[in-house]
Amino acid sequence: MIALEEGVPLSRFTTIGTGGPARYLARPATVEELREVLAWAAAEELPVAPIGLGSNLLVHDDGFDGLALKLTGDLVAIAVEGTTLVAGGGATNAVCLHRARDAGLGGLEFASAIPGTAGGGTRMNAGAYGRDWATVVLDADVVDATGMRTLTAQELGFAYRHSELRPGAVVARVRFALEPRPVDEIKARVADLLAARKSSQPTTKRTFGSVFVNPDGERGAGALIESVGLKGHQIGGALISPVHANFIENAGDATSADAIALMAEARRRVYAEHGLELRHEVRFLGPLLLPPL
Ligand SMILES: Cc1cc2nc3c(=O)[nH]c(=O)nc-3n(C[C@H](O)[C@H](O)[C@H](O)COP(=O)(O)OP(=O)(O)OC[C@H]3O[C@@H](n4cnc5c(N)ncnc54)[C@H](O)[C@@H]3O)c2cc1C
Repeated sequence: MIALEEGVPLSRFTTIGTGGPARYLARPATVEELREVLAWAAAEELPVAPIGLGSNLLVHDDGFDGLALKLTGDLVAIAVEGTTLVAGGGATNAVCLHRARDAGLGGLEFASAIPGTAGGGTRMNAGAYGRDWATVVLDADVVDATGMRTLTAQELGFAYRHSELRPGAVVARVRFALEPRPVDEIKARVADLLAARKSSQPTTKRTFGSVFVNPDGERGAGALIESVGLKGHQIGGALISPVHANFIENAGDATSADAIALMAEARRRVYAEHGLELRHEVRFLGPLLLPPL
């Protein structure tokens, strides 16, 4: 079986830069290596967590008592087949977009401002500007301890920032259905979207993207948090972004506990003042819990 690293700090693998060590970390490069290490984890009864760019991930400060996976090799490779982009689950959105653009294929431009991977986007049904993974995914090869299955977009069960992938199932490959588009048009669209992002979100700070999903109703989570006076509020090294209140910035020496304390305070105040229960979008790894309202 492939090598296992022990006690690797996951703060290195998250965009917010917090979190303790994984008991084990493996870097499979092929579907077979992935299946084998997943079978081993199942036999050891260890939970499994694939990590993409860690751009929507908050890891407990004491770490993750399981097997973390970083996909490499074949599992980050990208190929263009006609109008289909075939991306390894660990391929970054930036490289996918680059390859699609060079092949004159449009449809992924919306992902230019989402700093994740093809597999992480599938798990989260990541989206922006009215489009999401559900609108471009044809199907995905999903691996667990028993083997690999190809799931259609419908079988992946996409909903708002949600898929029906089972815990421990790993997206090894994703097929995106794109369409021919002039390269200059793609470039111009990406430039527009990135400029819009820069003016509205803390793109140069360490964050994990949206903290909460937007609740039903008229206002987004950021506006609700701002309305209860928490924009710019800091606990320890974690700061509710002065640019957009649905982001938490690492102001230097943040811990995951600081981020959780800010999230708990935002939930408490929004519930007290608006009667709305904020649900977190960021995924938790390790025994992280928000206090009940
Ligand atoms: C500045 C900034 C802006 C952002 N803007 C947006 C936005 O506009 N829209 C949006 O939707 N999100 C946004 N995000 C959040 C994040 O980028 C997306 O959710 C992204 O899709 C997460 O991908 P990732 O590969 O980094 O996943 P990770 O954060 O590493 O993991 C997220 C979840 O996916 C699982 N996962 C990761 N890889 C796989 C795999 N191969 N197979 C199965 N499960 C996997 C993890 O176990 C975890 O549960 C933003 C984040 C940042 C930091």
